[in-house]
Amino acid sequence: MKKVAFIKRSNGSHWVGDGFPVKNIFSYTDIAEKISPFLMMDHAGPAVFPPTKQKLGVGQHPHRGFETVTIVYQGGVTHRDSAGGGGSIGPGDVQWMTAASGLIHEEFHSEDFARQGGPFEMIQLWVNLPAKDKMSAPGYQGITAENIVHVSLANDAGTARIIAGAFGNVKGAAQTFTPMNVWDLRLNAGRTLSLTLPSGHTAALYVLSGRLTVGTQTVGAAEMVVMEREGTELLAEVTEDAVVLLLSGAPLNESIVGHGPFVMNTRAEIMQAMQDYNNGKFGQIVSAS
Ligand code: MN
Repeated sequence: MKKVAFIKRSNGSHWVGDGFPVKNIFSYTDIAEKISPFLMMDHAGPAVFPPTKQKLGVGQHPHRGFETVTIVYQGGVTHRDSAGGGGSIGPGDVQWMTAASGLIHEEFHSEDFARQGGPFEMIQLWVNLPAKDKMSAPGYQGITAENIVHVSLANDAGTARIIAGAFGNVKGAAQTFTPMNVWDLRLNAGRTLSLTLPSGHTAALYVLSGRLTVGTQTVGAAEMVVMEREGTELLAEVTEDAVVLLLSGAPLNESIVGHGPFVMNTRAEIMQAMQDYNNGKFGQIVSAS
């Protein structure tokens, strides 16, 4: 059975552009080695936005060396990038964007959501790429809710939506470069969650809402319990109905050097990224409208 390694609490709140009031749960500047292959996670909202005709969000900015994964719980997000990827997603949908060698993108509230207003909540997770894939071509997977398989958890503990990875024979919707699981869990109070995960992999549960007890620790909203890598069984008592994101994956065990939106393996590669960006090598967003 896996033991608790530590509880990670938010580093604090800030706005990303004018659309995303986020709590930063972890970043490559704090627990990078312990949470590998994951680099960063922001939890936006839940927050209520009034109807508006404005475009709220964050304008053009670059990324290189990793993937950005956006999971919408409430509201809607529109994305466009210089590699030609783009689309709007709503509750239950996921954008899995591979920045890799570099692109420029923008992220806004979707037009439909902005017009209606209402509650907004999303997760943005950064997934590291192994050194050999950091300079591969950018990509974009727009994954809608109907393409994400639901499985029922043992003990009537709730359901899991398999965004990435594998749950028994059920395959996740997203293609990934390295082995990992990203599961959206909806858990029932009074039940025991029991998950089987590969030994040696990173494993963590992030609680968006509700409450769990793991070992002797209580884990509530905006807290993440990171487990020891040894062992295969992850057990949690669900003490309040909970929405939880499971993250697990094979650690990359490669050096991490980041600077803002660029995450590479060496300082020289970061300098190169800045130079390439300044020289226009990340391309341009071609406006459709
Ligand atoms: Mn971005």
